[in-house]
Amino acid sequence: MPKSSKANIAERVVSAILSHDLKPGARLGEQELGNLFGVSRTLVRQALIELQSRGFVEVRPRMGWFVVEPSFEEARETYAARRIIEPGMLMDSGKPLQSVIRDLRKHVAQEKTAIVTGSPATRTVLLADFHVCLAENLGNRFLSAMMVDLSARTTLVSALYQSTTEAQDSNEDHANIVAAIAAGDMKEAGILMRDHINRLEARLDQSLAQTGTSRERMLSKLMEVPSRNRKG
Ligand SMILES: [Zn+2]
Repeated sequence: MPKSSKANIAERVVSAILSHDLKPGARLGEQELGNLFGVSRTLVRQALIELQSRGFVEVRPRMGWFVVEPSFEEARETYAARRIIEPGMLMDSGKPLQSVIRDLRKHVAQEKTAIVTGSPATRTVLLADFHVCLAENLGNRFLSAMMVDLSARTTLVSALYQSTTEAQDSNEDHANIVAAIAAGDMKEAGILMRDHINRLEARLDQSLAQTGTSRERMLSKLMEVPSRNRKG
């Protein structure tokens, strides 16, 4: 039954990350997920192992599974990856079909409405979804799968290291990118995308990192002891 397959469970966990229902550091009980999806703990565990290899969940000894809390370095690497992939994807493709342009315009209009009337969560989800939408329409299947992962990772990263979303600016950036695509200027669209990603990255703020840094500090403390002993 495809509904309860390992891939389907993994996909639903990633969707929950994208929709902010699962936040960084959230605990994932095997039994709970099993009940939720109506599948065995074995199947849940297999899905979690897949998600672990994709870097979304981790096992903490004797505590179970948790959604990862990316480090600040990983946050920067997430944007660095997007800076290479997303403009490249635009520059590599030809002008898309008119129906794709229409869908992209519709998406940007929905973002605009959500900024005025929607909840902050709806707004953030829509803004992130623009990038997945673009990849699904312009990229090949590998690139769109990559963009789903990078988008989910960006969601985790921004929950930890970004206080403001500046939704208005992002919406305008998206509108400009779609305008360049509609004009058939894919090179310009790529340049606008690179600038957009740079702006998003510039809003990363290491001082916001409560969980991340405290954990890293603790880990680096634990690492320090043996070396000091060795020297002494
Ligand atoms: Zn964006």
